[in-house]
Amino acid sequence: MGMRPLAPVRCASAQDVTDTAGRPDGRLRLFFALWPGAATAAALYARACALKAECDGRAMRRDTIHLTLAFLGEVPSCDLAALSAIAAGIGGARFTLELDHVGTWRGNRILWTGPSCLPPALVALGQTLADCLRAAGFALEQRAFTPHVTLVRNARRTPQAGETHALHWRVASFVLVASERGTAGAHYRVIGRWRLRENR
Ligand code: ATP
Ligand code: MG
Repeated sequence: MGMRPLAPVRCASAQDVTDTAGRPDGRLRLFFALWPGAATAAALYARACALKAECDGRAMRRDTIHLTLAFLGEVPSCDLAALSAIAAGIGGARFTLELDHVGTWRGNRILWTGPSCLPPALVALGQTLADCLRAAGFALEQRAFTPHVTLVRNARRTPQAGETHALHWRVASFVLVASERGTAGAHYRVIGRWRLRENR
């Protein structure tokens, strides 16, 4: 779908990226994402547990559930200022995600939930972010943006139903996240948040 770039809006509520403590090599593993509030995270976690009960595997922890917008991989922490400036210039409108679909990627045993109908504001946000990041020299993978929320890994079976009752996720901001490896797997730390414009 050909999307017009969003008009950059001044994002008065954008916070500067905070807490830049990185690894000794000065690099961070980063991605932009949508991060659910407590109620949505609880509902998504309940869906993850139901899928795990049906298909086995490992449910995502409630505090790690998210939707990746753009994955940057390992970047030097001195790039944080540029990333913050890009995020602040994105603009974009708030939207509601109707998560009414459960799917699986062939081959990697991941179960995810996503919307059967993509909100144009989400498509525009992902596209504008990718365009601006690439224009600034960040390398993103080429494959198309497929918005999904990973819920279960290492599933042993495929879920019965593709369609399911919709979870309504009201999205009012996006975040920059550092992915850190700990003894208990990946730990995610939100290091910046930018508000989306209220719809008029
Ligand atoms: P682990 O890799 O230890 O299993 P993880 O996949 O949750 O943990 P990361 O690899 O840091 O942690 O990924 C962070 C987020 O970015 C996840 O949502 C992941 O699906 C997504 N992601 C990772 N690699 C890519 C990639 N090459 N392209 C797009 N998204 C990616
Ligand atoms: Mg990974």
